Amino acid sequence: MTQDIKEIVIIGDGFAAAVAFIHLLRRGIHCSKILLIGPGLLGKGNAYNCISPFFRLNVREDLPSVFSEDPLHFARWAKVHIDDSEAQTEAGYFYRRQDFGRYISELVSKELGSDQIDQIYAKVSNLYKANEYWCLEIDKLKTIVAQRVIIATGNPPPIWPCAVQNIQTAMSPSQLIESPWVGKDLGNIHAHEEIILLGGGLTALDAINALVGQGHQGVIKVIGPRAVFPPMQAGWKREGQPDWPKNLTPAKLVRFIRNYLPSAPTDSVVWQSAWEELRPNINMIWQQFSYFQRRILFKRLGWLWSLYRFRASPQTIKAYRKLEANKQIQFVLGRAKRIEVAQTVTVVLGDGSKVSGDRIFNCTGVGRDSLLSKLIADQIARPDALGKSIAVASDYRVSKLSGGEWDDLWMIGPATMGSLGDVIAASSIAKQAEQLSIQITLK
Ligand SMILES: Cc1cc2nc3c(=O)[nH]c(=O)nc-3n(C[C@H](O)[C@H](O)[C@H](O)COP(=O)(O)OP(=O)(O)OC[C@H]3O[C@@H](n4cnc5c(N)ncnc54)[C@H](O)[C@@H]3O)c2cc1C
Repeated sequence: MTQDIKEIVIIGDGFAAAVAFIHLLRRGIHCSKILLIGPGLLGKGNAYNCISPFFRLNVREDLPSVFSEDPLHFARWAKVHIDDSEAQTEAGYFYRRQDFGRYISELVSKELGSDQIDQIYAKVSNLYKANEYWCLEIDKLKTIVAQRVIIATGNPPPIWPCAVQNIQTAMSPSQLIESPWVGKDLGNIHAHEEIILLGGGLTALDAINALVGQGHQGVIKVIGPRAVFPPMQAGWKREGQPDWPKNLTPAKLVRFIRNYLPSAPTDSVVWQSAWEELRPNINMIWQQFSYFQRRILFKRLGWLWSLYRFRASPQTIKAYRKLEANKQIQFVLGRAKRIEVAQTVTVVLGDGSKVSGDRIFNCTGVGRDSLLSKLIADQIARPDALGKSIAVASDYRVSKLSGGEWDDLWMIGPATMGSLGDVIAASSIAKQAEQLSIQITLK
């Protein structure tokens, strides 16, 4: 019986799972003691498994760092292994996401040497405790028993934010692109089609970069509550350190940030440098706030934070400006209430107005993680402050509904945002994985 019990199971196969795996191996845990469960190739996941060469990292080459002792590892690797004449900009090199995915795969292979990954290519549908072990159900077919579990299920792909009527009458499945992150249906688009982008963030900019890159001539309609895209990354540099006041409340925090930022354009070096000087302390401040305070802050400022925090690669903004100059882009303010599908696609907005096009991309952001929802429903984990995920402590242990934390269940990755703050970028996740591997190997 004990032979069937896995020592460590990592749920997920994306960047977070890969860096957790790499750091555990580097800390001396043999790969035979780790089982990975996830549907795809380790290290790719939702973010870096993209097919489209037009989808780029939104950060310059020195930022997605996997090893704290060698932050420029990727930048050096890229110089040798990436052939991409379009990567260089005034703000640094912005490489293709698929090349970053290749980098992570190479790191995994290098760390493994001649050993093999033990991976089950499936999704975990249920996780529960039986006596002292964790049981992981895989697609209801198989149950794995484990001593310790790391949840790294990442960013759930987008789902339509409203009802889609007559979905079966779509001219082709790619007329309705529910999850555009991979970029798989872009090649089939006729150059004169009218395209609707539902949502106006980085995913919409990726679609724009791809469409412009393949010579799109038709109109692109962007539907969203605001007619604004994230600013372009500038060549920012942290120079100073804010002198944070004591006893911050959300209102005082907002005031302090407002006063700290210079009155300069948000795509300028000076503005972005000040913004980036504020960021290193934000997680600590966030964690000091009560659940109530975090919810208020997120409700009031979540969209603004996302807008300025996740800035766009210069290549995507250049593509957007090209559309603007050609009068090929239109913003429609509003929120989708319903999508109707016939020969064309029509989005019915909250005020009853309609926007039609040949094809629609859902650029509305992350969906919902069914495993995390189940853990909350089954009372195994406590919901986090934002009610979107499960709560974790600062050492990534998952919080029990009954109080305290599990000693053998952790979570890393973007789903820890409600508990830990600004943890979505690759470098933050790699840091989490590194710290978790130290914790696990010291036990
Ligand atoms: C489209 C996109 C682009 C991004 N671009 C950047 C960028 O340029 N720079 C940057 O720093 N950050 C970027 N990010 C942020 C991103 O959060 C991190 O960089 C990182 O890639 C997240 O990795 P992850 O493994 O946590 O999540 P994901 O990449 O979402 O991978 C999670 C994986 O877990 C699998 N999974 C989910 N549920 C289960 C289950 N129940 N059982 C088994 N497996 C499961 C999923 O299928 C998926 O493959 C981007 C995110 C997205 C979505």
